[in-house]
Amino acid sequence: MIKIPDKCLQCGRAYRKKDADLLSEGENIFVFHVTCSYCKSSAVLNIAVGKEGVLSVVNLTDAGKGDLDKLRNDNVISADDVIEAYMSLKSIK
Ligand SMILES: [Zn+2]
Repeated sequence: MIKIPDKCLQCGRAYRKKDADLLSEGENIFVFHVTCSYCKSSAVLNIAVGKEGVLSVVNLTDAGKGDLDKLRNDNVISADDVIEAYMSLKSIK
């Protein structure tokens, strides 16, 4: 069971399950597009499932639900990309 980050980056409201669309799914990687039902901000969630647990990276995006097909084609993200992004985020903090 994948637990998606449950709060909007913009307004802090909880996401609901129906706010999320699965963009792509790999062996150990899931990419979701979420749109906050309160402030309408959209984000792309990259979730990698590894031995050490679940890594998730959230990026706000301008792409709305209508752009999902475009996102699907453009965002070919591997688990390595997510882990790399996660590590760089971690080192900033
Ligand atoms: Zn919001």
